[in-house]
Amino acid sequence: MIIAIDGPAGAGKSTVARAVAEAMGATYLDSGAMYRVVALLSMRDGAPGPAAVAGATTIGLGEAVTANGEDVTTAIRAPEVTARASEVAALPEVRAELVEKQRGLLNDGGDWVAEGRDIGTVVAPQAELKIFLTASEEERARRRAHELGLDAADVRGAQAERDRRDATRDYSPLVAAADAVRVDTTDLELPEVVDRIVGLARKAVAR
Ligand code: C5P
Repeated sequence: MIIAIDGPAGAGKSTVARAVAEAMGATYLDSGAMYRVVALLSMRDGAPGPAAVAGATTIGLGEAVTANGEDVTTAIRAPEVTARASEVAALPEVRAELVEKQRGLLNDGGDWVAEGRDIGTVVAPQAELKIFLTASEEERARRRAHELGLDAADVRGAQAERDRRDATRDYSPLVAAADAVRVDTTDLELPEVVDRIVGLARKAVAR
């Protein structure tokens, strides 16, 4: 089965998706890491444009994130890469390349929990369960700041800009799929969110 978890930055998608994958014995797919890899590599001196990078790079998503064999797990989380990722993600050629790679992984017949912005709408509209994870803007900024050891006010500005870009781009803007279940995590603890999604997944399998 495929569980799609989409939503804005800082809603807790990565933590929740990893935990749900573990609980369900499924494989976790971090689609955002792919956009981050393309951003990182295309920022380097002499690099070709992001679309060419997306087409020519072998991205490994396991314990470590790799780009043509190079470990970029830490480098892709730098703030300037985060900002650049949402810019390259607005380019249709980049999206086409990465969506194809993501579909190649998800269509292997195994069980997946895939996290991103367009999994339920574009990458895997056939997903048996679609979750749209949200939290208040303030809470999302607070969590990100805590995670990164930064000031919440600074994080909030950059996050709002990234949300705006993700939601207003022409290609695959961040929107909830019509059949997605909305889960607002503002006042929920992680185990409650995970239990809720695992419960919905078990129901979806039983149908
Ligand atoms: O989820 P994460 O913050 O790592 O994603 C980085 C950026 O990649 C997002 O801001 C978004 O612009 C882009 N992205 C996307 N579609 C996805 C996953 C991420 O456009 N499925």
